Amino acid sequence: MEPNEKKELLSLMPDELEAWMLSVGEAKFRARQIFPQLHRGLSPDEMTNIGKDLREKLHSAFRWHLPTVEQKLVSALDGTVKYLFGLADGNCVESVVMKYDHGNTVCISSQVGCRMGCRFCASTIGGRVRNLTPGELLGQVIAAQKDCGERISNIVMMGIGEPLDNYDNVIRFLHLVNCEQGLNIGYRHISLSTCGLVDKIRALMEEDLPITLSISLHAPDDQTRSGIMPINNRFGVAELLDTCRAYFAHTGRRISFEYTLIAGKNDSVANAQQLAQVLNLHLRSRTETMPIHVNLIPVNEVSETGFRHSGREAVAAFVKTLESKGIRATVRRKLGADINASCGQLRRAAIKEQEQ
Ligand code: SAH
Repeated sequence: MEPNEKKELLSLMPDELEAWMLSVGEAKFRARQIFPQLHRGLSPDEMTNIGKDLREKLHSAFRWHLPTVEQKLVSALDGTVKYLFGLADGNCVESVVMKYDHGNTVCISSQVGCRMGCRFCASTIGGRVRNLTPGELLGQVIAAQKDCGERISNIVMMGIGEPLDNYDNVIRFLHLVNCEQGLNIGYRHISLSTCGLVDKIRALMEEDLPITLSISLHAPDDQTRSGIMPINNRFGVAELLDTCRAYFAHTGRRISFEYTLIAGKNDSVANAQQLAQVLNLHLRSRTETMPIHVNLIPVNEVSETGFRHSGREAVAAFVKTLESKGIRATVRRKLGADINASCGQLRRAAIKEQEQ
């Protein structure tokens, strides 16, 4: 669903912008002039080195909109910044900037809402409204960098939405953000998290982009996983893990597994034993041995879901069980705990406020 007919300026690759320049009788070098400025967050109106003529041609051919800061929350605990960004059509998405010793990481959204239906997740409650365009995906990185005034060196696609359910736009975005003339963020500094769309993981593998893949596993067996993640009815645990092994064999890139601990649902010692068993079976049973890392995340309690996070002891026992079976696990440090930094919670709160 396009807000209007004009093409989006921020979605164009450098060679496409060059081709357009030539098609409207402008010199090719003009593209090299404006592309870096666009990617620093300037609108055509703010560029001082182009004439009125070209500016008008750009306006009549393209639309340009950078996500606007509708709300900004800064964590007093760790400096994490959460943005509610406004899009051209009035929809909102969330992005989070996290400050680590190795640089600033932005977590971006891939869709307005989500249709995957994971039962613990706030992003999916109102369903999927629409996909984000490549320019809107990129725009979040640009706008976050512009607002925080520091270089963003890493990107994680773990915000609202399922990136592989917006496949073509996400692939174009990855190429855009990697452009030398633009933000020049290396693929190795980009992580993409998926709930497990196996067909799209296979397609991604063929793109040969050395990004890091992260799998939201959350349960070791089909019964438990289907109970909290409907996608598991389409692609079961065995098929997903076999695809992960194929992905690793093809790309050589390590995959990390996300496991949200929910009290009484997936956090028992038996669950941990089974998790270690399936990971070892599917990822280590042949000659190649894949390094396996599990990120354990105490579930963020979303009022609508009724799920509770596991107690300290259950978490410790879970880690110990995994490690005793050769699986490395870390309990993810919770950043921005005081600012609703978890997936979709801020957008959800804004929608609720509008409804009242
Ligand atoms: N759709 C993608 C990316 C977005 S979600 C995916 O499923 O991976 C990013 C991560 O946050 C996923 O691992 C997701 O399962 C997790 N998540 C969602 N809601 C959560 C919650 N309430 N508490 C903890 N983690 C949550």
